[in-house]
Amino acid sequence: MAKTETPRRIRGTQDIFGDEQRRFAHVLSTFERVRALYCFQRVDIPVFESTAVFARSLGETTDVVSKEMYTFEDRGGDSLTLRPEFTAGIARAYLTEGWQQFAPMKLTTSGPVFRYERPQKGRFRQFHQIDAEVIGAAEPAADVELLVLADQLLRELGISEGVTLQLNTLGDAATRDAWREALVAHFEAHRGELSEDSLTRLEKNPMRILDSKDPRDRPIADSAPDIDAYLTDEARAFFEAVTAGLDAAGVAWERNARLVRGLDYYRHTAFEFVTDRLGSQGTVLAGGRYDGLIGSLGGPETAGVGWAAGVERLAMLLEEPAAPEIEIVVVPADPTAWDVANALVAGFRRAGIVTDMAYKGNLKRRLSKADAQNAYMAIIVGEKEIEKQAYTLKLLRTGGQLAIPVGRFAAVQGLVRETAWRRDKGASVRTILTEAFGIGVDE
Ligand code: ATP
Ligand code: MG
Repeated sequence: MAKTETPRRIRGTQDIFGDEQRRFAHVLSTFERVRALYCFQRVDIPVFESTAVFARSLGETTDVVSKEMYTFEDRGGDSLTLRPEFTAGIARAYLTEGWQQFAPMKLTTSGPVFRYERPQKGRFRQFHQIDAEVIGAAEPAADVELLVLADQLLRELGISEGVTLQLNTLGDAATRDAWREALVAHFEAHRGELSEDSLTRLEKNPMRILDSKDPRDRPIADSAPDIDAYLTDEARAFFEAVTAGLDAAGVAWERNARLVRGLDYYRHTAFEFVTDRLGSQGTVLAGGRYDGLIGSLGGPETAGVGWAAGVERLAMLLEEPAAPEIEIVVVPADPTAWDVANALVAGFRRAGIVTDMAYKGNLKRRLSKADAQNAYMAIIVGEKEIEKQAYTLKLLRTGGQLAIPVGRFAAVQGLVRETAWRRDKGASVRTILTEAFGIGVDE
């Protein structure tokens, strides 16, 4: 009989567990906390949309649309695409839900996104993004707020060291047209030296030559004219307002005149937070202003600015996160103690104490499980303890052991429950427990 093969994980996807999961969750909870400080609201949108939502808003010539989308026909014959990013779906929601009435909207979201790419370190086919957008605000204050938010997030994650904010302006439509013309003239003059990819870009998307990674293109890209000479007064004033806002908020930035976005609806601010700690996957967070996007989706002209960051890339930069702390492990020593143990565990958990129960194997194995979990104390209940009406409390750090009368446990649980406010103020549950049990200081 043929043996059934165990199923495989799909290339470029991840099963996130253990240490990796702790890093991942830490990025998301920090983002959740910081976005609330900036009064951004959380939104959740579908994982798939009509293909047109992404094709129209990202543009047919981008890498994402031309080669990376997971597009399929559903059973009803509609062409759907798994979201490769969030902005297009949020813009679509803004229009279909009539959210114009709430403008300006400060929104965040997070979750899986999908791109058919060559998997490598820091590059997956299903990865996760956190995303922040301000829709309906044409003021440079929105750009500043988003950048200061990103900066605070990186600081609170403890990874701002070695991460640089690179900033550029793409000007307004008039600026962009004039600059594009100058760029095309420059690249035409060096046609013979450009890579094949850049020759195609010259036809479809000449600005993208500026951020080409091909060594043949670099000298030509580096000697291309900067946007500065083409900025209109308005565009210059906008950029100055953004940089002044960043300076005032104490956010360090660097000008990168080669940072561009290929699509016409990108205006003014473009930015990336980059690091050299992740090899060639060095962009951790990227974004910019996209004032023309909602118009290109068929909606009224609406300003917008936003950014997205890869959760995996942020997680890779984090310090080793601490293993979760367990306060109490209850160990039923024999089957007669089962109900008592269950009642104890439920009581501790309801009091807000991190509690586990060791119920597999013999007593020795149960105790060593409690040890391995790095628990603070074990409470052992068996026939003998029930008979004596006192359970054994074992301090796993010091090995100290004492008998606690059963009546004491409900009192301790009540006391700990009432000190929730002390825990909010940062007092350790271990200290509170030590006091409540009256077992002297053991930290
Ligand atoms: P890259 O140049 O690395 O391909 P990108 O320009 O395609 O990035 P964006 O579309 O701006 O990236 O997405 C925002 C962020 O999402 C990136 O800065 C990065 O942190 C993350 N990211 C993008 N693609 C992947 C991927 N395939 N796997 C993991 N993270 C990714
Ligand atoms: Mg990419």
